[in-house]
Parts: sequence; structure tokens; C-alpha cells
Amino acid sequence: MTSQLLLDKVVLITGASSGIGAAAARVFAREGAIVVLAARRKDRLAELVDELRRAGQRAAYVVSDVAVAEQAAQAVEFAVSEYGRLDCAFNNAGIGGDRTPLHLMQDDVYDSVMDINVRGVWNCLRPEIAAMLAGGGGSIVNNSSVAGLVAIPAAAPYIASKHAVVGFTRAAADEYARQGIRVNAIAPGTTRSEITADWFARNPGLEDLVNSLTPQGRSAAPEEIAETAAWLLSDRCPFLTGAVVPVDGGFVNQ
Ligand code: NDP
Repeated sequence: MTSQLLLDKVVLITGASSGIGAAAARVFAREGAIVVLAARRKDRLAELVDELRRAGQRAAYVVSDVAVAEQAAQAVEFAVSEYGRLDCAFNNAGIGGDRTPLHLMQDDVYDSVMDINVRGVWNCLRPEIAAMLAGGGGSIVNNSSVAGLVAIPAAAPYIASKHAVVGFTRAAADEYARQGIRVNAIAPGTTRSEITADWFARNPGLEDLVNSLTPQGRSAAPEEIAETAAWLLSDRCPFLTGAVVPVDGGFVNQ
């Protein structure tokens, strides 16, 4: 067995322009993958692809808004047309939405969170699975959240959206298990990224509170989440499917 987890795997990463997705691009490429980076911000993607190529790694990008079905499908088509197949996908794109009590939450927050976090995963899963069926199998990791397993304060649409990601994970894992496609989810706890920087800037004291509620007493670096996704995507866990793996410093175990 190779020492690189993802050697020669063609891996699509959505939401690759920052945070956990950008960390995943670096970790997966270091582990030998050919990474296809998708997100809306072209400049960020281009910079990251340059960085990876300068390090001798294999990477390309495609601008794609996962909330738009045609654009999600185009990202998959791009990977297949560039590299001949799609082996793995990390459906990571997502937004946090406002932190507001449920009865004050506005419909536009609900709509944007559901469009990106739920419909976005739906839009990606279908072409990814079709491509993997054509290629004889594959591995998918969806990025849920601890908010896909338990409630967190003042984030009802986000919580509902991340529970839906768990539902899609279980449904797809069950349906395609005999066709060589594994589908798992990760449930990160608080991770230092643009989403949490925004939440913490607008809610003084929230960061300390979250850290105090986490058994390890800290938040995660994006790379820690990406490492777990890399392992789940890899051939090192061939009997693992339909799982939702908390990567949360012990938060949901309490
Ligand atoms: P970031 O805000 O740093 O990253 C979010 C990524 O998603 C960006 O690359 C953004 O790129 C992309 N994105 C957002 N909307 C779309 C869209 N419509 N189409 C394509 N890409 C999109 O935050 P994180 O790294 O934290 O978030 C990544 C995932 O991790 C999310 O699903 C989030 O819910 C999940 N998560 C995060 C946790 C945390 O504490 N940070 C905890 C648990 C889960 P662009 O704007 O260029 O499109």
C-alpha cells in the first residue's frame, strides 16, 4: 500500500477557496491527489492552484456556485474532462447564516442557508454519483457539522441544513453501497475559518464560550478537519460507509 493516502485520485473539493476547503486542497494534494478546486471566488482559486503547482502538485480550478445545479454539474464535468474520471468528492461548500433567535430569523437567511448547504450538496451528489458509477466506484465525504448532530444556539436554519446533509449522506451510502461508492460525513466542531471569524466578530464572547464548552478547550485548525476527510476519502477504510464522524474535540460526546 502506498504511503500517500490519495495517490493519483481525482478529487473534487467544493468550497475550496478558503477555510476547511482550502486546507483540504493542500492536504489532499500533499497526499498525492489530483485536486479540482471549486468555489465562486476565482481569484482565490487561481492563487491556490498556483501555490500547489509551484510545489509540484497537480491542481486545477473551476468556478462553480453549488446552489445552481448546472454549475455544480459543470464542476464534475470539468474534472472528468480534464482527468478522465472522478474518484472522490469532498462536498464542503457552505455558509453559516446569521446567529439569531429562531423567532426573529429572516426568510432570506433560511433561503440562502438552505440553497447552499442543502441544495448545494444535492446538486453535487447527483452528477458525482453518476460519474463514479461510470468509473466503477468512488468515495464521497460531505461536510456536515456538530450542528448536524445536536443543536447549537441561535442558528436554526444552519442546524436544519446540516441535519439534512447527514440525511443525504445516509441515503446515498445505503443506495450505492453495492456499486462501490462509499459516502460518509464529517461533523466538525468549531474550526478557525471565515465563517467562525464572522460569527465571533459579530457576537463578542462567543469564541470563549464555545471553547469552554469543548472538552479539549479549543477550536480546530482547518487542517485537522481536512486530515480526517482525507482518510475517509481514501482506500484505507473500505468498509466504512454511512458514517458521520465528529471531529470536534469531544463536543458531541459530552
Ligand atoms: P469558509 O467561509 O472559510 O469557507 C466556505 C467555503 O464555501 C468558501 O470556499 C466559499 O467559497 C464556499 N462557498 C460558499 N457558498 C458557496 C456556493 N454557493 N458555491 C460554491 N462555494 C461556496 O468556512 P469553513 O471553511 O468553515 O466552511 C466550510 C464548511 O465547513 C461549511 O460547509 C461549514 O458549514 C462547515 N463547517 C464549518 C465549521 C466551522 O466551525 N468553521 C464547523 C462545522 C462545519 P466562495 O465564497 O468563493 O464561493
